[in-house]
Amino acid sequence: MTRREKAQAVLVRLRARIPRPETELGYRTEFELLVAVILSAQCTDARVNLVTPALFEAYPTPEAMAKASVEEIFPYIRSVSYPNNKAKALAATSRMLVDEFGGQVPDTHAQLTRLKGVGRKTANVIMAVAFDEPAIAVDTHVFRVANRIGLVKDALAPRAVEDGLQRVIPKDDWGEAHHLLILHGRYTCTARSPQCDRCPLTELCDYFAALQKLPAPLDGLDPKRGRYFVKTTGRYLDEPTTKVDRHGVEQLADPVSGSMNLFDARTGQTTKRVKDYRV
Ligand code: SF4
Repeated sequence: MTRREKAQAVLVRLRARIPRPETELGYRTEFELLVAVILSAQCTDARVNLVTPALFEAYPTPEAMAKASVEEIFPYIRSVSYPNNKAKALAATSRMLVDEFGGQVPDTHAQLTRLKGVGRKTANVIMAVAFDEPAIAVDTHVFRVANRIGLVKDALAPRAVEDGLQRVIPKDDWGEAHHLLILHGRYTCTARSPQCDRCPLTELCDYFAALQKLPAPLDGLDPKRGRYFVKTTGRYLDEPTTKVDRHGVEQLADPVSGSMNLFDARTGQTTKRVKDYRV
C-alpha cells in the first residue's frame, strides 16, 4: 500500500467515526476565531472556551480590543497558558487589524503571519476554517498521529509533517483531514495512552504494528532476585542503564552486556518502548 493509498483509507475510516470534523473552539466571527486560535496555543480548546465568552462580550471587535491595554485584557485570560504573552499578542494584533487591515482579519497567509501571536500553524487554521482555503495546520495531535500511523516517515518537525501530509492527501481534503487527525489524536490516539483497542486504524497504523512485535511477557520471573530480568543473559539486576536504540528511543539496558532485552521482574512485561512521537 502506498502512503497515498494509506492516507485515503485513513480518511475514509475517520470520516465514518467522526461525523463533524470541525474546530471545537467557540467563535462567531473571523475576529473571534483569530483570538480563540491565538489563545489555544499550548492550551486546550476546552479551557479557551471557558474564557472566551466573557472576553468576546467585553471586546467583540478589533476596534474594541484595540482600545484595551494589556493589563485590561489579562484578567479575562489569566487561566489559559502563557496569559501575559497572549494578552500582549491580542492587544498588538487588534491594533494592527485596525491600523493596517481596516478592522478585518486578513485572508492571506503572508498577512496573517505578520500579526503578533500568529505563526504558521495559527495562520493555517484561520485560512482553512475562516476562509475555506486548503491548508493543513500541524499541532501536537496532527504531528503525533501522522507519524504514528505512518502518513509521514519520521517527520520530526511540524513543517516536515505539513509537507508530507500535503504530498499524500488531495488538496481538497486538507482542511477536513486536519480536523479529522486532530480529533482522532484528542480522543483516541492520545499522547500517553492511545486507545488502540477501539481505534478503526489498527490495520493501517505503523505504531500499532510495532507494538505487536514487542516481546511477549515472561512468566515465572522472581522479583526477589532483582527488579529487572535480562533475557539475553538470564541474569537479574536492580539498576539498569539507558541506551538509545536505532529508532532514537531511549531504552533500559543491562550495564554489563548492553542488552536492551529487559523485562520487569514483577509484571513480566518487556521494558522496550516504541517511538511514539509525543511532543
Ligand atoms: S492504532 Fe493506536 S497508535 Fe495507531 S492510530 Fe490507532 S490509537 Fe493511534
